[in-house]
Amino acid sequence: TEPGGKYARVMLKISGEALMGDQGYGLHPPTVQRIAEEVKSVQRMGVEICMVIGGGNIFRGLQGSAQGMERTTADYMGMLATVMNALAMQSALESIGVFTRVISAIPMDQVCEPYIRRRAVRHLEKKRVCIFAAGTGNPYFTTDTAATLRASEMGCEAVFKGTKVDGVYDKDPKKFADAKRYDRVSYDEALEKHLGVMDATAIALARDNRLPIIVFSLDEPGGFRGILSGQGTYTRVD
Ligand code: UDP
Repeated sequence: TEPGGKYARVMLKISGEALMGDQGYGLHPPTVQRIAEEVKSVQRMGVEICMVIGGGNIFRGLQGSAQGMERTTADYMGMLATVMNALAMQSALESIGVFTRVISAIPMDQVCEPYIRRRAVRHLEKKRVCIFAAGTGNPYFTTDTAATLRASEMGCEAVFKGTKVDGVYDKDPKKFADAKRYDRVSYDEALEKHLGVMDATAIALARDNRLPIIVFSLDEPGGFRGILSGQGTYTRVD
């Protein structure tokens, strides 16, 4: 174990889409495995790791409701999708020797543990990776908000949001060559300018709890570990 830099306990938030690779839908096992390796390399630094994984690669509440489904029902389906992703990540992590717990906001005892805050903290102390599933357990929220909530509850020092680009830009860097990356941006500026860091509920919760959000690229091999060691480019929202 190498020294874990300045972070002792962190939250890693990834979207469901991060797990689908080049496919348009669902899970791409080699991609899940690659991310699991990234998590392992950080865990081996001695950092305690919480994870929240979205569900957008399988189901998104807003899309379902746009097709006539009741919003709350569609949102519950979205939450269930996050449980599937969490189980896939658990499986990938355990296959490479990382002990994990999947902890669901909606109890489903045969599948994973229910969320009990003090129990989750204990898992972290024992260096198990805690994957928080089923979002906040409430419709009308997102997994970004779930990540911010659980990070606050677990006493994480920051939320690391792994995306396809190395930070927050003033416009889409995949479309505009002159897009500028922010090194640092305030919560209020991110909210005001709709910078798309996270949804407004999540940013406001992070602001109110003084929880920094670090947006970095998960496509970069070794990226997560690098960012935690103070290398690479990213945007810090605080
Ligand atoms: N969801 C919800 N409450 C939560 C978290 C998630 O209702 O606390 C539902 C919502 O329908 C959302 C879906 O789960 O569309 C998948 O989550 P999200 O869109 O955040 O996934 P991501 O975009 O990160 O893949």
